[in-house]
Amino acid sequence: MLVGCITNIVDLIGGERLALSILSLAFAVLTLYALKKYELSTKLKIGIIYSHLFFLSFPAVLFTTNLACGSMCMPCQDNTYALIGYALPSTLALATIAGFVVIPSFYIVSHKRMEISDKELLRFVHRHARRMKIKKLKLYAIDRAKPLAFSFRSFRSAIFLSVGLLDVMNRKEIEAVLLHELAHLQRRSSALKLSHALLRLSPLSLLARFHHDAGEEERRTDAFVVRQQKTERYLLSAKRKMDAFCCHY
Ligand SMILES: [Zn+2]
Repeated sequence: MLVGCITNIVDLIGGERLALSILSLAFAVLTLYALKKYELSTKLKIGIIYSHLFFLSFPAVLFTTNLACGSMCMPCQDNTYALIGYALPSTLALATIAGFVVIPSFYIVSHKRMEISDKELLRFVHRHARRMKIKKLKLYAIDRAKPLAFSFRSFRSAIFLSVGLLDVMNRKEIEAVLLHELAHLQRRSSALKLSHALLRLSPLSLLARFHHDAGEEERRTDAFVVRQQKTERYLLSAKRKMDAFCCHY
């Protein structure tokens, strides 16, 4: 009875595709396990969450594609290689879109208890956010000794400051870092930026949000800080402090 049932399923789905799906789900479990078990860097975590989303959705996309091929009487039905050809890019796209929602939520949920409660800092941030039309902004502390800061915007905006940064920087330097991140958030919100981001819709563009390059965007956000503070003194000393810790990481 059970054997008959399994044979039916294999016939229906196709042995190869079933094996592929089981393998994919096994990878999904493995990536989730790695995420829970190990202390990973931010970049690696994002990569792993992304692969998890990929492996998790691959079987569903594979079978949906097969159904679609069947309903349109296309030759790709039951042709595993053709199906993979269709399913891979769709899964990549799906995982990327899911990533834009899941990855920021993961950070917001896992850092919820670390919301920064310093009234003066919050007042500073919200005053500027209002002026810059950045809505629903949250400020979080992350438990890392290295001074670092990053921000992202998806369904809500968040700025993350490490405990190490709050420790070694004075008020004006922290404000310089916050203005820098606010400028990033504002740039991301513009329609231009959105279409640009959609064009580059890839896991790499998500990684780039966590990574500060000395590119055009950095020059513009830094210029914004200098305009606001009317001096580059604090921005420079904040950067020096970040750089001083870079190589012990
Ligand atoms: Zn930056």
